[in-house]
Amino acid sequence: FSYPLPANEPVLQYAPGSTERAALKKTLAELKKKPIEIPMYIGGKAVKTGKKVEIRPPHELSHTLGYFHAGEEKHVHQAIDAALKAKDAWAAMSWENRAHIFLKAADLMATKYRFHMNGTTMLGQSKNAFQAEIDSACELIDFLRFNVHFLSEIYKQQPISSPGMHNRMEWRPLEGFVLAVTPFNFTAIGGNLPTSAAMCGNVVVWKPANTQIYSAQMTMRILKEAGLPDGVINLIYVDGPTIGKVCFSHRDFAGVHFTGSTGVFNNMWKVIGENVAKYRSYPRIVGETGGKDFVVAHKSANVDAVVTALARGAFEFQGQKCSAASRAYIPSNIADEVKTKLVAAIKSMKMGTVEDFTNFVNAVIDEKAFNSITRYIDNAKKDKKASILVGGNYSKKEGYFIEPTVIETRDPKYVTMCEEIFGPVLTLHVYDAEKFEETLALVDSTSPYALTGAILSQDREAVELATNKLRNAAGNFYINDKPTGAVVGQQPFGGARGSGTNDKAGSMINLYRWLSARTIKETY
Ligand code: GLU
Repeated sequence: FSYPLPANEPVLQYAPGSTERAALKKTLAELKKKPIEIPMYIGGKAVKTGKKVEIRPPHELSHTLGYFHAGEEKHVHQAIDAALKAKDAWAAMSWENRAHIFLKAADLMATKYRFHMNGTTMLGQSKNAFQAEIDSACELIDFLRFNVHFLSEIYKQQPISSPGMHNRMEWRPLEGFVLAVTPFNFTAIGGNLPTSAAMCGNVVVWKPANTQIYSAQMTMRILKEAGLPDGVINLIYVDGPTIGKVCFSHRDFAGVHFTGSTGVFNNMWKVIGENVAKYRSYPRIVGETGGKDFVVAHKSANVDAVVTALARGAFEFQGQKCSAASRAYIPSNIADEVKTKLVAAIKSMKMGTVEDFTNFVNAVIDEKAFNSITRYIDNAKKDKKASILVGGNYSKKEGYFIEPTVIETRDPKYVTMCEEIFGPVLTLHVYDAEKFEETLALVDSTSPYALTGAILSQDREAVELATNKLRNAAGNFYINDKPTGAVVGQQPFGGARGSGTNDKAGSMINLYRWLSARTIKETY
């Protein structure tokens, strides 16, 4: 049975006076009325441990959104046991019935729960309405619908047969359970990592970042309402090291679907390697990790396009995207104009809570992030190699607010040109406009990551040169655009080098990783 290619979920605009704006505001007010208790979900049951951890909006630290019930080691065992118990019936369920659960969940997210998905993302992760809409509504809905289509295309693929012989591929799920570890920055990634593996017939233990739990529990509740059988996805709130200890030493560990830091992913490979003899099969290790994403402008570039790519690419969602523009290479001939216009664009960005829809910038996710980002800014203020072009102020009085900041440096290898900051900090380097090719070599060699990047140029030969020279510098390469905002089905997303295994989220490449095919030959 084949599912046709879906259309992308249309993005609502939330214009002043629109019904969607009124509906979203109403949901925000409801969500803020009373703190909620958030259980774990193990084997379909809501589990409350009594070990309550408070959740506050990063932009309004005086408010309590709710409490999640934290688990411990025994809950990891329970989640794995529940998953393994659900496994056979889930894998035996017809593909059509499995698919319909995810399609129904997508429809529920698009209609009945759209504003709850966006509202919990806005309040829990400090994402403005427009950024929430493209994440927790559109991208997550698209992941579910497109993955159903892509998987049905995979299932159709069969080898050739001949008279007297029939061959077929049985697209089996993996033998064991899959661990999904998801980050705070995209509710859509939180939804995609467990569901893409589950859709293929796998059972999953899902560990979201603590700072994502407020929206992740919404996704889980919708999946349950859509008919996901008990135990297929088990949502637990246990610290990473404990989860790793239990899952990575379990005989039935079949794979990990991860988005997060390069350091954590590297450690996973190490621990899994050490335990490899314990497993029934070699586990699948799929991860999207860090980025130090570049924007290179050629001397022919349109200045306004460069400014937009930088302002939106670097500062939407406070730069907390693996794809965010964080190092810019600007040619000397247009540098002054770019800087003037960029400063003006940034000064026009309002910062504050998500409830005021005119705010472009909200808070960064937590105190740890706040401290680490502001340390880079403080060091740049003191360092002779760097200067602050705009921004640089911050405060954590009411929430974790950091102004969008541009650091300028003459040293193309200055620390903020090389290291991932994961916050609203862009570093700009002006290069000799006649040294484009040398600059491309610099772009390629400056960072260990290779997630996204952009070239802005009106000159086709320069575009061609950059496309070739930067072949391995980015898994998502944008010509005359910002390096963020990949859309499911349009720009399959992922990078190599230090940025991950490049198994393109929301594509067949990703789904193949959650399947282990059996080839069956019958002669007659
Ligand atoms: N897919 C997102 C984008 O294209 C980034 C995902 C991430 O930050 O992990 O902007």
